[in-house]
Amino acid sequence: MNFNLPALVRNNIKKMQPYSSARHEFSGNASIFLDANENAYGSPVDKSAGEKTAMYNRYPDPLQWQLKFQLAGIKGVPAENICLGNGSDELIDLAIRIFCNPGVDNVIVCPPTYGMYAVNAAINDVETRKIFLTNDFQLDIAGILNATDDRSKLLFICSPNNPTGNNMNRNDVEFLMNNFPGIVMIDEAYINYSNQKTFTQELSSYPNLIVMQTLSKAWGLAGLRLGMCFASLDIIDLFNKIKQPYNISEASQAIALKALQNSAQVNGWIREVVDQKKILRTGFNSLPFIINVFPSDANFILIKVRDGNDLYRYLAQKEIVVRNRTNEPGCENCLRISIGRPEENEKLLAVLKNYKT
Ligand code: PMP
Repeated sequence: MNFNLPALVRNNIKKMQPYSSARHEFSGNASIFLDANENAYGSPVDKSAGEKTAMYNRYPDPLQWQLKFQLAGIKGVPAENICLGNGSDELIDLAIRIFCNPGVDNVIVCPPTYGMYAVNAAINDVETRKIFLTNDFQLDIAGILNATDDRSKLLFICSPNNPTGNNMNRNDVEFLMNNFPGIVMIDEAYINYSNQKTFTQELSSYPNLIVMQTLSKAWGLAGLRLGMCFASLDIIDLFNKIKQPYNISEASQAIALKALQNSAQVNGWIREVVDQKKILRTGFNSLPFIINVFPSDANFILIKVRDGNDLYRYLAQKEIVVRNRTNEPGCENCLRISIGRPEENEKLLAVLKNYKT
């Protein structure tokens, strides 16, 4: 397929001059910084927090190079091919704003799936074309290509998918990367729990590919707000062109740099979640009111029960909150349950055993 990136990019984005910050314009060695109207005396947080490295009175590196170099080593993707966002939610919004003309272009999403693709499209006045997953929660390739026209700029694929938990069939994803005329954005938020190989290693073969990951799940940093996307240099240039100059705070960068040294801890948690998921699956399967326990490659399980709203309310009364997905297409009477700590999962199973339908 002939891929022409500029033809997909909005004209105003191509033409615009990006903001050039003080930190962008100077490179070299300097010891006195009088270029950014900062408070040269310090910040009240420095001493009390005992932080020697973080300088909160200074603007952070707009391109977060130190953090990206560390991520590059972990992810096996060059730092130049990474853009960081304030959560992957920011990256979804940026992608829509780069490629989709409001009121003109469309994006394709495959429900039941993560809600923020359609929400961000709506915020940007961009049409969402919904092509539902098949009965076994796989991509409807023919449906997607039938719905595609020359205004279809982005196709969102979530794998493993939220809320169903399954991987998308790799051949189907590859077929779409080869045949969808716009950008294919693969959301790998849950990839650390999956048996599926990441698509980050396919960037050189697919110039129309954006892969998204996050530190919010396996890395345990949902509160920090750090999402990553991986793509060609040309696509990353576009993200950098339109993102807010200082979208990742100094505090986030400093904490992430430290956290990323603890991969052994994270890998241990991933193994534990996978083990706990097996225990929960066995427990769920033994309960008569649970009609289906869907396969999961993520850190949650989707279950189908006789009456989803009733079970949701029952669990809430017992102070256990799960995600009620009963109103999502194809998810009638389904609850999505995150894998907790062993004692939390035990409690959940005990409470479920006492549920009277
Ligand atoms: N993608 C998927 C599939 C998700 O489930 C979530 C969070 N629930 C996100 C992205 C958002 O991640 P972040 O915290 O990085 O914004």
